[in-house]
Amino acid sequence: MMHIYADNAATTKMSPEAIAAMLPYFDQEYGNPSSLHSVGQRANQALQDARSRIARQLGCQPQEILFTSGGSEADNQAILSAARLGERKGKKHIISTAFEHHAVLHTLKKLEKEGFAVTLLDVHENGLVTPQQVEDAIREDTCLVSIMYANNEIGTIQPVEAIGEICRRRGVLFHTDAVQAAGHLSIDVVKQNIDLLALSAHKFHGPKGIGVLYARRGVPLINLIEGGAQERGKRGGTENIPAIMGMAAALEQACGNMDAVNTKLIPLRDRLIQGLSQIPHSILNGDAQSRLPGNVNFCFEGIEGEALLLLLDDKGVYASSGSACTSGSLDPSHVLLAIGRPHEIAHGSLRLSLSQETTQEEVDYIIEAVSDTVAYLRSISPVWRDLLEGKQNFVIQ
Ligand SMILES: *Cc1c(COP(=O)(O)O)cnc(C)c1O
Repeated sequence: MMHIYADNAATTKMSPEAIAAMLPYFDQEYGNPSSLHSVGQRANQALQDARSRIARQLGCQPQEILFTSGGSEADNQAILSAARLGERKGKKHIISTAFEHHAVLHTLKKLEKEGFAVTLLDVHENGLVTPQQVEDAIREDTCLVSIMYANNEIGTIQPVEAIGEICRRRGVLFHTDAVQAAGHLSIDVVKQNIDLLALSAHKFHGPKGIGVLYARRGVPLINLIEGGAQERGKRGGTENIPAIMGMAAALEQACGNMDAVNTKLIPLRDRLIQGLSQIPHSILNGDAQSRLPGNVNFCFEGIEGEALLLLLDDKGVYASSGSACTSGSLDPSHVLLAIGRPHEIAHGSLRLSLSQETTQEEVDYIIEAVSDTVAYLRSISPVWRDLLEGKQNFVIQ
């Protein structure tokens, strides 16, 4: 049996280079960067070196890089910082979208309870928001626009540069959750007019539990974690040097190989989309072009996503329905609801996220496994029988 990991949007396998970059910092160069002796100062040197290398990949200055425990913490800190700054100026309106990651949406919910007004832009059926929607939603009291670079479920890529340009012109801070984009799509925070950006190492073959908040010089941050003077006093706690070194290596590698990997992945993605489109009453979620090179997301009518996942697991195909964070709950994906999929359809979703290691043979195996499993589940489904007998109407033609 083949074993195909097709859940790279949930997390990735670490690259050997990233692992190798971490190892010396566990038992050889294990100093605390805050220690004044030479062991500590060597760790501090490594930390500053990693900061510069990561800054270079994003097109920013090393002082604009803050290390966090991952994408969620970076999103929280970015949004709360912009909100506190806005509050001081009497600006308590935030614009975002209905299909953000929960790290963003739940932070916004918290601010709403405090009296902030939040406008969640409608996402078009193709999974995109337009710069014009952002322009139209900006008010006198808007302090922040937070729109993700690429969606973690349906992979759609937002026009961040144009959105950033509008925000800059209107004097509103622009945050983007770039967790799915970093290492997979090009990022240049200056060219793209980004003020705040979050990324996470484990989405680009680095270690879990480490991420970056980029904050443009002059954007004041608040602390989520009080403590020592680490990270310019903006995040207390001894720096996770091994993870930071692993992240720097993984990001350099991912950015260096980006064009080659994407050139390989896009035809595989499109082959998978083409193959799954042959399944009757199926529909691709998210724009076919403006999407991550490794992302495929489908809805199949008359199917329970969880049942599909479990049977695929038996066939050695490891995928996801919705996002890893929502699986385990019975609520349909908020992302699929946001692009207008009805509840019963949103339940029958499947996300396959490929990596540079995915082969054409694997893609063909996935197509066959999914086609067979969908056909089997439909053959035992009373809902499917009702659809065939015309007692219910098909939603997906
Ligand atoms: C994975 C993910 C996060 C959370 O990152 P963690 O490092 O796991 O906290 C946030 N946003 C998006 C879009 C993600 O895909």
